[in-house]
Amino acid sequence: MRGLVLHVEDEPAIRDVVRLYLTREGFSVVAATSGEDALAELRRDRPVAVILDVGLPGMDGIEVCRVMRADNDWTPVLFCTARDDEVDRVMGLELGADDYITKPFSPRELVARVKAAVRRAAGPETAGAVLRVGDVSLDRGSHEVFVADRQVELTATEFELLAHLMARPGRVFTREELLSEVWGYSSAGGTRTVDVHIAQVRGKLGDTSPIRTVRGVGYSVADPVPGADGD
Ligand code: CA
Repeated sequence: MRGLVLHVEDEPAIRDVVRLYLTREGFSVVAATSGEDALAELRRDRPVAVILDVGLPGMDGIEVCRVMRADNDWTPVLFCTARDDEVDRVMGLELGADDYITKPFSPRELVARVKAAVRRAAGPETAGAVLRVGDVSLDRGSHEVFVADRQVELTATEFELLAHLMARPGRVFTREELLSEVWGYSSAGGTRTVDVHIAQVRGKLGDTSPIRTVRGVGYSVADPVPGADGD
């Protein structure tokens, strides 16, 4: 068994097809039809991932995610959005959303995204290495990140993104590379996810963030140059 997935969706037909595809891949599935149900379910079970429809009757998916994060629940969340303005709301807010998929989606694609999110949350199999760039240290074993003495809380996806960059300081990664290597899929137009997560990691690392934007190419981490402005 790959673990329990909570699927929050008010449309029965979508619930049925998603359950079919997830169980076929070895997941067990519990469904919730409203935000209130979802929160009750999260307190009862400990799913490995949550598929969260944005448009729900009553409390919407965004509010559910907000409550989860306020409760310090960092279970990976994959949002299902129906419209572009929902994508903007999901990715523009500091919700710790791991990924999103736009309706109508292919169930196969959804399952691939869930697997990738669970894999990221589990962390890399090679534990133990501590990576350091500038003031930032990242421990793959304990999943902790520090800026000097200050501990920084990152979501599983943010952690993997930073770890990926820090594993090869100075190497410039394109957005497409990061999407494929960190998120585990490639998608035309999906690179906004990368930009949003980079912005969130930078915000959390603060002024001494070692993440550099290489214009027209992508991102890298590098030791800060004394006297130079960060990006
Ligand atoms: Ca809906």
